Amino acid sequence: MTPPNFPAEADWEQAPSLMDGALNLELSAATCNLKYWLGSVPQGTLRGRILGHADDVRPMDVVRQEGPLNSALKQELAFRSIAEEKATRAIGYMVALAPDNDGMEFYSTQLIDEARHAMVFRSHLLQLGTAEHELFPEVDRLAGDDRENILVPLENFGLRVLRDERDYIGGVLVLTVLVEGVLAPAAELSERKWRVFDPAAADIERGAGIDEIRHLTVGSSIIREHLLKHPEDKPRLLELMAEGYALWGTLPTSEQLLRRERLFQQGIEEHGHLLGDYEAWPGRRLKDTTAEERMATGQEWAERMQRTRLAYMGLEDAI
Ligand code: FE
Ligand code: FE
Repeated sequence: MTPPNFPAEADWEQAPSLMDGALNLELSAATCNLKYWLGSVPQGTLRGRILGHADDVRPMDVVRQEGPLNSALKQELAFRSIAEEKATRAIGYMVALAPDNDGMEFYSTQLIDEARHAMVFRSHLLQLGTAEHELFPEVDRLAGDDRENILVPLENFGLRVLRDERDYIGGVLVLTVLVEGVLAPAAELSERKWRVFDPAAADIERGAGIDEIRHLTVGSSIIREHLLKHPEDKPRLLELMAEGYALWGTLPTSEQLLRRERLFQQGIEEHGHLLGDYEAWPGRRLKDTTAEERMATGQEWAERMQRTRLAYMGLEDAI
């Protein structure tokens, strides 16, 4: 039971999907302060779901046993858990640099959210056959190359802005637009893909997605308010965006996605009957989709999200 006046956007049942929430909601750091977070996240979204899902929600056997679905999900979880860990550490700088109490409190809560995401993505590997003492070496083995090729360059870009240049607004922009804005649609797709095969993984994504709505909308509102007060800062932020997009273009993210989607496709070929008529998105049964189609759909969602959020911030010229 959810208490009255509980914010719907953080309620497990009522919260919108990540894409709908991130496209349509408006939340500010002043609203999403520490008091809001304490009431709505630990006592709301996460109640009864410390590891991101209820205890009795479990992956299907075809995902727990070795095979393409197991490999696809393990690779994804390992990569995501490293990404979340890097985000957590970088957000430490945002807490330090926040010029006001609202920003300081908000980023303190986001820091815990991201640390939690790293923990739940990683610990779900235990359900997929990884032994407890093997957890960290397994994450390295599964995602070490992608970490070096994708996450380290992004991290270095973020650290230059935050640690070296001590640029708070630049950091908010890099985190909101480049890191979260680009990864969010992939997270939504993941929740939909795993819903039947592994409802626990889908719930982990759902919970992270509810947090992500907050991260994206508050980050965007911080940029928007900043630009309304300091329009002269716009050319500089546009330049930073252009630099970030150029960097993103050099990263082997499509190769990585395609590798995972091909494994998932093998899983559909072997076990698609378990999916029944379940739809990946309205009107399209998951078992009829292809690897390329799922990638293209995620891409389309990412572009729609970017356009909408950048326009809201006043940075539509970035695309
Ligand atoms: Fe996260
Ligand atoms: Fe986030």
